[in-house]
Amino acid sequence: MTATSAARRPRKAPTGATPSVGFVSLGCPKALVDSELILTQLRAEGYATSATYEDADLVIVNTCGFIDAAVQESLEAIGEALAENGRVIVTGCLGARSEGGTNLVAKVHPKVLAVTGPHATSEVLDHVHRHLPKPHDPFGDLVPPAGIKLTPKHYAYLKISEGCNHRCSFCIIPSMRGDLVSRPLGQVMREAENLVRQGVKELLVISQDTSAYGVDVRYKLDFVGGRAVKTRMHELVRELGALGIWVRLHYVYPYPHVDDVVPLMAEGRVLPYLDVPFQHASPRILKLMKRPASGEKNIERIRAWRDVCPDITIRSTFIAGFPGETEAEFGELLDFLREAQLDRVGCFAYSPVEGAAANALPGMLPDEVREERRARFMQVQQEISAARLARKVGTTQRVLLDEVGPTVAVGRTTADAPEIDGVVYVKKGRRALAAGEFVDVAITRAEEHDLHGRLA
Ligand code: SF4
Repeated sequence: MTATSAARRPRKAPTGATPSVGFVSLGCPKALVDSELILTQLRAEGYATSATYEDADLVIVNTCGFIDAAVQESLEAIGEALAENGRVIVTGCLGARSEGGTNLVAKVHPKVLAVTGPHATSEVLDHVHRHLPKPHDPFGDLVPPAGIKLTPKHYAYLKISEGCNHRCSFCIIPSMRGDLVSRPLGQVMREAENLVRQGVKELLVISQDTSAYGVDVRYKLDFVGGRAVKTRMHELVRELGALGIWVRLHYVYPYPHVDDVVPLMAEGRVLPYLDVPFQHASPRILKLMKRPASGEKNIERIRAWRDVCPDITIRSTFIAGFPGETEAEFGELLDFLREAQLDRVGCFAYSPVEGAAANALPGMLPDEVREERRARFMQVQQEISAARLARKVGTTQRVLLDEVGPTVAVGRTTADAPEIDGVVYVKKGRRALAAGEFVDVAITRAEEHDLHGRLA
């Protein structure tokens, strides 16, 4: 949201015109989907949305509380909204955190109108109704069937579940978002179909644990287009694969049943892309982390996936410098990396999140050691990523365009998720192209993360 200097005075409640709500959305794609649900409901009820603090009668800040830097960013965003507008409702993960028995947001910013936790659309709407009464005659038909989206028109996140049944020792998400609650398959598919009807070309499936979809409802039958289908990962992926668009799977834990999804990738029904957060490779550290599926033989599994689907792109995230991690265990992680030859990798130096069980583990490493291990990790991975990307030079890749400039367009291959992976710079000459269009690109050059090419 753009702050304007003219809006420094706190605003008064509106007196007649269409009430307008400003929105600041921070955090991960799951928080983004929560923002979309709130905005959709607001628009359905006839509220206007505002891009500036000045024009908003009230501002909602959707926060992130995952790591200390995110907490700081969220608290600053709330402070800015209070200074620029004055009427602020806070939602999201940070809203669920307390310090010494007091809600952290209310403690730091006592002037906020209300605070809720994540995934609380109706609670947020209740607060909006209280502080900015609903317009009398809502024009529900102005809302597109798939709701309001904050992503570009051609891709969208599809949240299939909320919460998580695991208790990873470094994570406080279950305490903020609760246990796993899978959305009914029929509802997920209706949303996906509406998005496709509106022009979405790529769906990004998100959750805390995509592999666990349906566990909480014991894979019960639901209805998709009049057919009874099990609420389960494999069935969900198969149904999404029939929509004829790009479908990308995120947050997939390497359970054995994930092996059954890889053939659907080899057949071209969904993108050959798996985002699998391995986090570590040492069995002792994985046990201390209490990671799901940590007992699985991940190297063998990766090998088997590549046998079935040679083009598969595997993305992962890791934590370096976990409490008690020895130099030898860190070495195991580097060995895993060299052997696994993953395509895309992110690494965080361990950050003690307040309230996480891992903080009580012995052997907390100094900041410099954690950071130095992260840097060494990334050095090893950068060479691997660059070498894997270089193999694409000379090939022709299908690219979905995100932006089109006068001479160069920017897009992504099947191997690149938006925001987190690389891009392809496409020399387009005088050809008229548009964002959301698929083109075939001859790859001419590779950098560490990105590719360059020309229209094939
Ligand atoms: S799987 Fe672990 S890291 Fe992921 S949300 Fe659940 S508890 Fe957190």
